[in-house]
Amino acid sequence: MQIQNNIDRIQASIRTTAERCGRNPDDIQLIGVSKRKPAGLIRDAIAAGHKNFGENYIQEAMEKIDELGRDAACWHFIGHLQSNKAKFAVKYFDLIHTVDKLKLAKEINKQAAKIGKVQQVLLQINIAQEDTKSGAAAGEVLDLARSISQFDHLSLQGLMCMPPFFDDPEEARPYFRAVRIIKDEIAGMNLPGVEMNHLSMGMSNDYAVAIEEGATLVRVGTAIFGRRD
Ligand SMILES: *Cc1c(COP(=O)(O)O)cnc(C)c1O
Repeated sequence: MQIQNNIDRIQASIRTTAERCGRNPDDIQLIGVSKRKPAGLIRDAIAAGHKNFGENYIQEAMEKIDELGRDAACWHFIGHLQSNKAKFAVKYFDLIHTVDKLKLAKEINKQAAKIGKVQQVLLQINIAQEDTKSGAAAGEVLDLARSISQFDHLSLQGLMCMPPFFDDPEEARPYFRAVRIIKDEIAGMNLPGVEMNHLSMGMSNDYAVAIEEGATLVRVGTAIFGRRD
């Protein structure tokens, strides 16, 4: 019940925010970030009609997805991905948000080819150049997009970012805006196999600002599932 209330409240706020800034609310998908939360809570959210979930850790995600069913929801991988786990990410996830290196892109392409899948991916940008975060540097993403465009089993859908945490979400705005500009730049390159329809940005604290700056996928954990211990 609580989860359903939380989702309803956030969906309503997504609508209001979108309408206020002249966007179509249907262009924004809410991803429930369920890392370190039990499968039972995800099941409750699915029962309440929710479809998109984000997970950060491959092993944990595989256990929960096996329990709930691969086709029970749309699964998003949003954690740091090591090349040696690419095989599992390809098997379990509809969209991988965190491609940040050519080596990783190559491995995902190879694993997707093996199972005859075209894997949808986003490029993660480390927009504030934080040492503690993964993601490609802003200056690297154009080249990465060109490379990915040449892989038959990858379909680049857009960009993902996670700016620094600020108490005042307004402070995240310049980072969201910068990522959007890079997305438009890549879109303008008209690369084959590259769509650039998505911007994965905004979390519990700052999703409204992210929507104002063009987010299409907001990744909300705490505000749906409660605090993580
Ligand atoms: C944990 C996490 C989120 C959700 O964060 P909340 O503040 O709990 O909403 C979103 N994106 C990524 C990449 C995360 O790791």
